[in-house]
Amino acid sequence: MESVLKDVMGDESVAVDVQKKHISVTTIIIRILMYIAGACGVVGSWLLFMTIKGIVVAIPLFFLSIKILDLARVKYKLACPHCDTERAVKSNAEHYLCKQCRKITFVNWIK
Ligand SMILES: [Zn+2]
Repeated sequence: MESVLKDVMGDESVAVDVQKKHISVTTIIIRILMYIAGACGVVGSWLLFMTIKGIVVAIPLFFLSIKILDLARVKYKLACPHCDTERAVKSNAEHYLCKQCRKITFVNWIK
């Protein structure tokens, strides 16, 4: 545990500069539609769940909707500066933890 903390808190933390994507109006519209579809799916699955009979459909629909909502978010694929493992990072995240080497990388967003 101590060694993990040392890795995380130590001066091995690196900051990377990431250029922000230019997002077009079309992309924004698609993402809004994905959000609406995902939200409807969550509500729909909840209603189906209430009917008891609909549970079989409700559960996969719920996870599909969550997946759609997740895909609708702007993400960046960044390679870990320590071990080169690629990881999806949310837009505007200040830092991320690499699952592979357990090191924190700070992100400087460039507009
Ligand atoms: Zn790593």
